[in-house]
Amino acid sequence: MSAKALALLLVMALAPGLAFTKPLAAGPDRPATAVLMKQCEGKEDFSAPAPPARLYGNTYYVGTCTVSVLLVTTPQGHVLVDTATEQAVPSILANIRALGFRPEDIRWIVSSHEHFDHVGGLAALQKATGAKVALSAPAARIAETGKPDPADSQFGVLKDHPFAPVKTDRIVASGSVIRVGPLRLTMTATPGHTTGSTSWTWQSCAGKPCRTVSYIDSISALAAPPYRFSDHPEVVARFRRTFAAIAARRCGILVTPHPSVSNLFERMLGKEPLAQQDACRGYASKGSEGLDTQLAKETTK
Ligand SMILES: [Zn+2]
Repeated sequence: MSAKALALLLVMALAPGLAFTKPLAAGPDRPATAVLMKQCEGKEDFSAPAPPARLYGNTYYVGTCTVSVLLVTTPQGHVLVDTATEQAVPSILANIRALGFRPEDIRWIVSSHEHFDHVGGLAALQKATGAKVALSAPAARIAETGKPDPADSQFGVLKDHPFAPVKTDRIVASGSVIRVGPLRLTMTATPGHTTGSTSWTWQSCAGKPCRTVSYIDSISALAAPPYRFSDHPEVVARFRRTFAAIAARRCGILVTPHPSVSNLFERMLGKEPLAQQDACRGYASKGSEGLDTQLAKETTK
């Protein structure tokens, strides 16, 4: 046996917790993720309940099989990022409790964008938790009524999906920071998928090491007839600015409002790297290709 191997054995024997247990404790909960993936196999419904799993440090996945909801905890209270559909609310609350946290300790709820699959549960969760709600100005205008935006590229479909109206406590813009205890969530406006699209970044820690979590909003250029992006050059230009801004970021651990878009569960399970270098650049270029495909389809019609 080499001296190096002997030293390693000694460390394992004398201080197993110190050497091996602590760093693993901060990473994704792989067994819980495996249970989640098994339960979610073949499920496409936005409200399909999924069990919770630690994503990294004090950031937990508490959403459904297909829609992300994140709980970020601190000893001074928590933040909930997105709320999925109204039908998903009981499972979100159950997930928070199953992790050992109290929904009443959530101080703020923030959101990605003003579509029913991300803010449909907002009013019910606001009521259940007593938390304050922070939204971008365009998202707040839609959330106040619960009626989808007639200018939305997906209005043709969304019009059949109103949601419970929400009173916003704080309007946030690019650079706004939501603070709870030591936690800082910074907002960046990323308009395109909707006018009020927002992304959120924070440091997630369980002791050391801390890592950046980037919750980057949907950037899919989806259109429901009769909407055509080619009729709205200002929307196309806005999208392109957002792609460029996202591509320029180092996003650390990328999380998207629909987990499958960024293979989140596979990454939590360890099948792919959790934090891919250039994850944001790759995400932005996929969005850009999607918009180009959509525009090309419109010109050939
Ligand atoms: Zn959407």
